[in-house]
Amino acid sequence: MKVYQKRRFYRRLHKVGLTLAALVPALVILLIWVVIIGVDKSIADATPLQSTQSVEQSITKDVQFEDKQVEDEIIDHAKCSLDTMYYLSNLVTRRDLLYPSIDVVVLYVDGEALLTVKDRAVADRIVEHLKTYQGDASKVTSVELEQDVFFKEKHIAVAQFEGCSDFDGAVEYIQNGGIEVVTYTIAKGDTLSEIASQYDSSVERLIADNPYLASKKYLTIGDQLVINRPEPLITQYVTVLESRVEQLAPSEEYIDNEALYIGEKQLVSEGKPGEMFLTEEVVYRNGRAVDRVVQSEEILAEAVDDIYQRGVKPLPVQLAESTLVRPVTAYRVTSRFGPRAHLGYHYGIDLKMPIGTPVYASEAGVIKTAGYRGGYGNLVVIDHGAGLETYYAHNSQLLVCAGEYVEKGQKICLSGNSGNSTGPHLHFEIKLNNVSVNPEKYLPF
Ligand SMILES: [Zn+2]
Repeated sequence: MKVYQKRRFYRRLHKVGLTLAALVPALVILLIWVVIIGVDKSIADATPLQSTQSVEQSITKDVQFEDKQVEDEIIDHAKCSLDTMYYLSNLVTRRDLLYPSIDVVVLYVDGEALLTVKDRAVADRIVEHLKTYQGDASKVTSVELEQDVFFKEKHIAVAQFEGCSDFDGAVEYIQNGGIEVVTYTIAKGDTLSEIASQYDSSVERLIADNPYLASKKYLTIGDQLVINRPEPLITQYVTVLESRVEQLAPSEEYIDNEALYIGEKQLVSEGKPGEMFLTEEVVYRNGRAVDRVVQSEEILAEAVDDIYQRGVKPLPVQLAESTLVRPVTAYRVTSRFGPRAHLGYHYGIDLKMPIGTPVYASEAGVIKTAGYRGGYGNLVVIDHGAGLETYYAHNSQLLVCAGEYVEKGQKICLSGNSGNSTGPHLHFEIKLNNVSVNPEKYLPF
């Protein structure tokens, strides 16, 4: 009886032992699985995903590798032995769980990844856009990209994923993502706002790029500015054929006339501009014309030249003091030639008279100037030949034109108060070989 009971006890013990022996490894396996899934889940949750809407669908649970080299290495190892293969397959499974990958399309420019888009359709639209000229040109003969541009489909680890560009975002980035640094030298008459608009920048940005400007009141001619202007990351060259009708300006043709004095010019017949149909091959670099080559010119109408008679007769003036006459008859001298107390050196003589008084040529000659000139106001200059010139300044009205011959004593203008003048008067000046001389050496006033 005791022996029997003992045996039953041992048989039971044996059964429990077997069950435990079977259960323990199963529990261990379960435990390992839970740990792995748990780790995977926590890593996947922590992975930043942008543009998740499109990405989630393409997350694959297949085994993917970031690069071919790792894949080859694993395959090589796998060939070694069953043990390594077992080890590696384990590794592969874990990699898959830890690094889920996604399918994207990457744009490469000269071999460097520039941006990522979600699929081939977006990539194709971008390529299409890059290869199309956006300006208006009737005949585009070629569109070329300076850089080597291609798209490549890729599986990348979610951990490496930094988001996809949509079409508009990609085009905007390609268009303005680069910076071209230009050095600009300030020239006379420049203003910051004009420079800014010329380089698609703003006054604020110019000051940010050139901090020394902030403390300056005026621009200094010759100073250099650094201008960072947005530049496309991919350079597009477009060649187009452009045609237009161009005006041809008439040339001037001269007939020598011995009856006219040297410097005198008279219009005989007025010409007419011609017209030409011009076709040019124009190369645009990122929308800016960089080269033009004329392909054909077709004259639609020849230009008709302006024809002038021009004088060849030497001026008659033989310089003698007595030959000059006074430019006005009634006047009062208010300032004579020479140094003045507060107004600096006086290079002529000022004759006071009412506005509108007739002024006469002191000697025969050809009108060299008839127009407004700075402090002189409305000015007439007569070239009398032999290096002698007379000046009549501050006029209200001019009655002669440049190139015209005038006789001695001919009415040339009406006096006035134009230019730098403190009251109605005629400023009369005589220059001999470009040097102002005292008019009273020639004429008594
Ligand atoms: Zn004067």
